[in-house]
Amino acid sequence: MQPSGNAPIDRRHEGLDDWPSTDLIGSDRRGLPPAGPEGDVDAVLAVLHEVPDPEVPAVDVVELGIVRGIDWVEGRLRVQVTPTYSGCPATEAIEQQIEEALTAAGYVAPQIERRLSPAWTTDWITEEGREKLRAFGIAPPVGSASKRSLLGEDPAVPCPLCGSEHTERVSEFGSTACKALYRCRDCLEPFDYFKCL
Ligand SMILES: [Zn+2]
Repeated sequence: MQPSGNAPIDRRHEGLDDWPSTDLIGSDRRGLPPAGPEGDVDAVLAVLHEVPDPEVPAVDVVELGIVRGIDWVEGRLRVQVTPTYSGCPATEAIEQQIEEALTAAGYVAPQIERRLSPAWTTDWITEEGREKLRAFGIAPPVGSASKRSLLGEDPAVPCPLCGSEHTERVSEFGSTACKALYRCRDCLEPFDYFKCL
C-alpha cells in the first residue's frame, strides 16, 4: 500500500495521460445524434441543429435558414447550403463545420454543396432562431426583407434587452458586417441589430 498522501498525485497524473485520447473525443461525440439511414432527413436535421453559426453561436445553421436541401446522391448524403450573403467570410467555416459534424455523426463523405440562388434573406431565420437572437442580446431582423425594400427606410428596432422601441442606430456596422450597432435610449445598452437583407 502506498502512503495515502501520494494517491492524489498519482490519480492526477493518470488523468492527464488519459485526457486527450478519451475525454476530448468522447465529449465531441456526445452532443451529436447518430447518423440515420438514407432518406431520413430528420436524422440529418438533428445533427445540423448541433452546428452553431460561427458569428452568432446562439443560433444553429438550421435556425439561420441556410440549409436549403437534404438528399442522397448514389447513397451519399448531400446537403445544400446558401451563404447568408455573398462574400461573408463565415461561409467556408460554416460549410466545414457542417461537414465535420455530419462525418462525426457517422455519415460517410457527406457532400456540402453551395447553392447561391435563390439568395438567402433574413426572412429565412426561423421563429426559434429569432427568439434565440433576442436572448443572446441581438435584435432580430424587423419585418420582412421584401417589404422593407418597398418602404426604403429602417423600421423601429426594439431593444432585445428591455423591449423599448426608443432606440437609435450608432453605426451601420456592428461586430460583423451582417449587423448594425444600435443603442437603447431607455436602458442605455448598446446592442447588435441583425440587418434585414
Ligand atoms: Zn433597452
